[in-house]
Amino acid sequence: MANYIVGLTGGIGSGKTAVSDAFAALGVTVVDADVVSREVVEPGRPALAAIVEHFGADITTADGHLDRAALRQVIFADASEKQWLEQLLHPLIGEETLHQLAAADSPYALLVSPLLTETGQQQLCQRVLVVDAPEALQLQRTMTRDNNSREQVERIIASQSSRQQRLASADDVLNNDGDLAELREKVAQLHQTYLQLAAQAHD
Ligand code: ATP
Repeated sequence: MANYIVGLTGGIGSGKTAVSDAFAALGVTVVDADVVSREVVEPGRPALAAIVEHFGADITTADGHLDRAALRQVIFADASEKQWLEQLLHPLIGEETLHQLAAADSPYALLVSPLLTETGQQQLCQRVLVVDAPEALQLQRTMTRDNNSREQVERIIASQSSRQQRLASADDVLNNDGDLAELREKVAQLHQTYLQLAAQAHD
């Protein structure tokens, strides 16, 4: 297990991926909860077999991958099916996350999760970094990236924890209100801090 884990969180389109890519470029092992949650349902993994057994073969695409849109529809329409799915996946995601953190080969590791504080993953972390951006920028960047309407993105922002709630759990805040060069500069500074903290934790 990496002996020092920094949790990274932030609202939709705040820049979590852009920030974690910058840490990865500095050699930091990045474990991304969104990536892990897709990996556990890849073809050949036991979770996909359980999902097919439960929902039927129509829940997969022609090439044997999970049909996420179909699954979303089923669980959106039926809260008990949503619960069934969460009970199956949450422990597997937790296990896989620990497995990847254990394999980290950098002085500290980054655990990226939009729901870091909501899911208890924060307990795995020695430090929490919140990526923060003014809501107007969050909206604009997400609309451009996903080709979504303003209403769609506003609805997602409203469904997530508030900025205040997130900032309350932060040890560090990265204000992602500039360009990507500025972001990389801020990441480089935080990297120095985390290297020091990880070295002290090791003593
Ligand atoms: P989500 O919660 O939806 O996964 P996220 O927090 O990972 O989003 P990113 O995907 O990193 O956010 O950023 C949203 C979009 O904004 C991306 O297209 C990204 O390239 C862009 N972006 C992020 N930060 C900056 C920046 N400082 N300057 C310009 N573009 C940026």
